Amino acid sequence: MSATKNVLSKAPVSLATYRAAVVREFGAPLVVDEVPKLALERGQIRVRVEATGLCHTDIHAAHGDWPVKPSPPFVPGHEGVGIVEELGAGVTEVALGERVAMPWLGYACGTCDYCVSGWETLCLEQKNMGYSIDGGLGEYATAFARYVVRVPDGIDPYDAAPLTCAGVTTYKAIKVAGTRSSDLVAVFGVGGLGHMAIQYARIAGGRVVAVDLTDEKLELARELGASFTVNAAKEDPATAIQRLGGADQAIALAVSPRSFEQAFGSLRRGGTLVFVALPADNEMKLPIFETVLNGITVVGSIVGTRAELRDVFALHAAGRTTVIRETRRLADANEAIADVEAGRVAARIVLQP
Ligand SMILES: [Zn+2]
Ligand SMILES: [Zn+2]
Repeated sequence: MSATKNVLSKAPVSLATYRAAVVREFGAPLVVDEVPKLALERGQIRVRVEATGLCHTDIHAAHGDWPVKPSPPFVPGHEGVGIVEELGAGVTEVALGERVAMPWLGYACGTCDYCVSGWETLCLEQKNMGYSIDGGLGEYATAFARYVVRVPDGIDPYDAAPLTCAGVTTYKAIKVAGTRSSDLVAVFGVGGLGHMAIQYARIAGGRVVAVDLTDEKLELARELGASFTVNAAKEDPATAIQRLGGADQAIALAVSPRSFEQAFGSLRRGGTLVFVALPADNEMKLPIFETVLNGITVVGSIVGTRAELRDVFALHAAGRTTVIRETRRLADANEAIADVEAGRVAARIVLQP
């Protein structure tokens, strides 16, 4: 996450504008407003946005919750999907009229050790959609052609949007977890990310135990392939999962340090805890003694690469994943944010400009 200035802070070069949901001030409601359409830089494309998923990260961005903050005014959104409408100089990666996804990794240097070894998501020069580059919560978005991913024909753009972050992030987390057949995978948090994590863990061959605070979400988890569920509002998930023999991997997707601690407590010896969610409250208690004696691995996993997003789209095109989402109008972005924060959303809200 670099803190480079976003395009809204530069002088407009044309009078053309488009509507977007703008963060003008941390913690204040988004303002749906006209923003200037800027001339494309070399390597950039203009995308007419069809759909953008609302991720918890967008809400943290709008609140300025994390140590590295974006600079208002900016447009959130890193699950934007749309049609390429204009090409900047030198663009060869995509063509006019193609449908593309604009993920969190909006730009990377392409030449550092991370970029050349399949870890572009760790590039120190990276810029992020909806954070340091204006994102998908608008009628248009500007992206770097090299970092968008083509959406295969036959995938509904309203499905493609949640796959662009929630999908690829959990696909990667299951890869990092190293799930194999016969493993028990504990998925903590059945929301936008969790409902996809359950499916990728199943595709990897694992059995899934899903943990959440509401029975409706646990019901959804069962429908998507979870073998066991634990309502953490009613019983301690660590105890319940230890009764099943303990989890080989636990995927922490809920934005609460308490849930991370429960995920740690749910592991069997030799297990792996994967950190994915980014709670505003940045600390958890990690017991050293149990980590050492039980041979526990703790690993962080941040989004996924372009290649992994291609895998995610291929799995979806092959009918192996289901995206649970509801559609709202971009003008209702603030209501959508309130519903996500209050846990009133089954999985993902997709906003329609
Ligand atoms: Zn996200
Ligand atoms: Zn790099």
